[in-house]
Amino acid sequence: MEKMTYCQSCGMPLTKGTHGTEHDGSQNNDYCLYCYKHGTFVDDCTMDDMIAISLQHMKEAGILAEQGKTEEETKEFLDSFFPELKRWKK
Ligand SMILES: [Zn+2]
Repeated sequence: MEKMTYCQSCGMPLTKGTHGTEHDGSQNNDYCLYCYKHGTFVDDCTMDDMIAISLQHMKEAGILAEQGKTEEETKEFLDSFFPELKRWKK
């Protein structure tokens, strides 16, 4: 089975067709197309900004309800998950 990869900026699962692109149009394997386009990051935001955006997105997409998690629990998870991602790793 293929290993599941996540966007190393926003944490969303990277599936076929959701990869970012390099300047020459080739595929980038670390980031999604919402974060990384034409060899550069789309948003120049901080990790905290990205966590807030992700949380909002998960809430709107009904993922919190689906997983039976509160907003606080999910925020806690994201706060520990994001520093592991390549873009935010110090
Ligand atoms: Zn992303």
